[in-house]
Amino acid sequence: MLIEIHELERHPIDFDEKVPPGRIDLGADLRQRGPLHASGRAQLVEEHRGKHKLIKDIRLKGELSANLEIACARCLAPVVQNVERDFDLLYRPRGADAGQEEVSFSVAEAEIGYYEGTGLLLEDVLREQVLLALPLKITCREDCKGLCPHCGKNLNQEQCSCMVPAEDPRWAALKEIRGRLEH
Ligand SMILES: [Zn+2]
Ligand SMILES: [Zn+2]
Repeated sequence: MLIEIHELERHPIDFDEKVPPGRIDLGADLRQRGPLHASGRAQLVEEHRGKHKLIKDIRLKGELSANLEIACARCLAPVVQNVERDFDLLYRPRGADAGQEEVSFSVAEAEIGYYEGTGLLLEDVLREQVLLALPLKITCREDCKGLCPHCGKNLNQEQCSCMVPAEDPRWAALKEIRGRLEH
């Protein structure tokens, strides 16, 4: 769904979208299970800069929810993750801030994005918001043992027979030094 400036100039746009899996590219590690639901409102915000410059921003406020499947960070097993997020974002035309040293922001700088051309593609915003809503590291369970770094076996399912060094050689060296100091 393209939110177009020329339409926003006439009235705000309310949206209530159910985006089917596949329409938003979430990358190879993430799978969307069922429709992603997003609703909210887009509005035109006019910024006056100096006497003659008028910048047309798009303010996008709403919420999204989605059900996703992502690989466990340790063992790669699929983990189902629900994502819910409220957003309140401001998009400026790309290039509007070029060469500006000081710009007074009405909202936190982190929440400002840029749109190109005639409008803003809602799917692009949703993609970014979904990725921001995900925790950095997702594991299938808190004590996931992961994969053996040597043979690749899933250690939650079976213990492999790879040799685990009984003692780190660096510790052994330290112990020796300490032993010498003590005597
Ligand atoms: Zn895991
Ligand atoms: Zn192993």
